[in-house]
Formats: sequence, C-alpha cells, structure tokens
Amino acid sequence: MRVEDARLFIEQKVLDPALSSPDLPDSAKATIRNTRSWLPRFRRIGDLIAYMDRFKGTGETDVYRELKAADLLTFEDIHDDFMDVFGKFASERTRLDDFVVGERYTGSELVIFAEVYDNRSGGILLIGRSGNPQAVLVKATLSGGKYPNAWISEPERLRYYLKSRKEVFSEAYVENAAIIKNPEIPVYVFYRTDDRESSFTFSGQYRNETVHKEPDGSKWFELVRSEAIAPRNRVEEGELRRDFLKKVAVAKRGSRQDRLSRLKNASKRPAKVITSSTAYLRNPDVVAEVLFRSNGTCEGCGSKAPFKRNADGSPYLEVHHMKHLSEGGEDIVENAIAVCPNCHRREHFGPRNWH
Ligand SMILES: [Zn+2]
Ligand SMILES: [Zn+2]
Repeated sequence: MRVEDARLFIEQKVLDPALSSPDLPDSAKATIRNTRSWLPRFRRIGDLIAYMDRFKGTGETDVYRELKAADLLTFEDIHDDFMDVFGKFASERTRLDDFVVGERYTGSELVIFAEVYDNRSGGILLIGRSGNPQAVLVKATLSGGKYPNAWISEPERLRYYLKSRKEVFSEAYVENAAIIKNPEIPVYVFYRTDDRESSFTFSGQYRNETVHKEPDGSKWFELVRSEAIAPRNRVEEGELRRDFLKKVAVAKRGSRQDRLSRLKNASKRPAKVITSSTAYLRNPDVVAEVLFRSNGTCEGCGSKAPFKRNADGSPYLEVHHMKHLSEGGEDIVENAIAVCPNCHRREHFGPRNWH
C-alpha cells in the first residue's frame, strides 16, 4: 500500500495540477505525462525515492522553470514534505538477490532497478556506480531483436552480442567494458524468446568467458552460467588443507632428485582458488576469562608468555579447547586453557596432553 500512497502524494501535489493547468506549455506536459506513466511501475517505495532523488539538485530544467512560471509545485518543492512522510522507507529497495530464476520481469522493472528510467537504454544495464559496477543485467531477445542472440546450450551458455553503435562493436563502450574489464562481475541474464513478448525471464547469474569476433566485425560474449563454474572453483578450506598435507607427504616420500627436477620447472606463482569454510562463533568471555586466569603464564608448561601483543601490550598466549570444539567440546572456561604457541602446536600436531 505504501508505494501507492507515495505515488498519490506526487500525483496530487505535482503531476495532476500540472496536467490540468491551462498555463503550462504542451512540451512540459509531455514530460510530466512521461513521469506519470513511470510512477505505477515502481514496486518498492525505496526505488521510488531513488527516482525522486534525481530531481534534487538537477538545476533548473525547462520543466522546472515552466512549472514555476505557471505558479505550480515542482518536485523540488515537495521533496522535504515527501521525505518527512516516506523517507523512513528509503531502504525498501529492490536488491539483486530478489530476482528469482524462472520468474518474469518487465523491461521497466529492470530499468528502474538500474536507475535508468528509459526503456530505450539498450540491453546491457550497469548496477551500482558506473565506474565500478557491482553487477550487470542483460536483456536478451532471442529472435526478432537487433542481434542474433542465441543459446549455445540452454541454459548454460548464451551467445550475447556486445552493445554496438552504427555497426561498431567497440569493447571500450562503457557497457561492454564493464563486462570485459571485470571478468568476475556477475551478469544477470534476462531473456525473452522473441521481441513481441513484453517481459523477460530471469535465467540466473552468468560470467563472460570470452569475446568472439565474427568476420563481419560483430562481437559477442560467451556467457556461462556461474553455477556451472562455481563447484569447480570453490573448495572447502579444510578439504584444501588436508589435500595439501597429503601431497606434501607424497612429495617427502619421493626421491629428492625427482623433487629437484620438478622444482626447476614449477610455476613460481601459485594459482588462487576461492574457498569456503565453516567457523565456530566462540564466546569472547571464555577467552578473556581464561587469559585473566593464566596471568601471563602458559598453563601447559608454566613458562611466561613469549612476547607481548602489539595491539595492547598484553602477554601473548592462545586459548585452546582441551576437548576440541570439532570433537563436541564445550565452549566454556572449564574446557579451555591459555597456552604458549609451542604448547598449542604440540597439542594439535604432536602428542596430546589433554583430551
Ligand atoms: Zn607452554
Ligand atoms: Zn587449540
């Protein structure tokens, strides 16, 4: 209901008086009518507020002057009153993760989300600041459109043409560059089977794999659905560590000669992977209390903490759970001890003192 209230507020104070005024020129009325046609397309009040905010400090446009000359209210005039009533809902915005795979969205909804407010704005919409977009939305028309966009395999791979002007598919155009210069940027693909459909189906998140160039000079992105990439790239951290330790064991067992010859040809720059991990949200009071109890002395070997922390000058000791949290140990003072780094490492990688 609230987004309707906000729309009515704007219509009643600015748009309707303007449209029925005999003093306002037709050109200004055309602009007002265009604005009026956009208002009902807003689904969330925060999106509408973002739209209204554009009129703040845009300077004196023709419409602004003409409204003033006809003694009518402008957006600027109502802005403060509008925000008094609706400003508290400014955070109710459409977000990237609101889009649901398989659902349909109108072109207007997508340009509102991209804050472009123009249905002729082209197929590639940048989300976030234009110099540093956080995502890209593409509207793909698969037949009857300007370009022969097509599934290479549905829904994993899409041939999607770069933005062009007068047959030039420049990789430097802002929209194309946003995808090419940010290989990790998520590309949200919305498609319609042909240009007579008024809405687009959301197909999911993609990444650009390569830019292909055709003999006629046209260029297209090969967009690959990220879900197809993710499982290959994302490794669980513990698994990564265990796997690495196994490989070290194998490397130790092999002959030194083989190892030295492998080292000669090895890549000097390690590849990177994205990892995921699970962590315990430990109780800070347990840590603070156990450190207090230790009074700067290792509760394992009885020696003094080896150094003081840069952060606060306190003695450096580590809080260890005697029965590990991963073994079902409790995060309580009674199950925790403050130990020096040597005792702590020994406990994890050498003979254990506590169980
Ligand atoms: Zn110790
Ligand atoms: Zn530990």
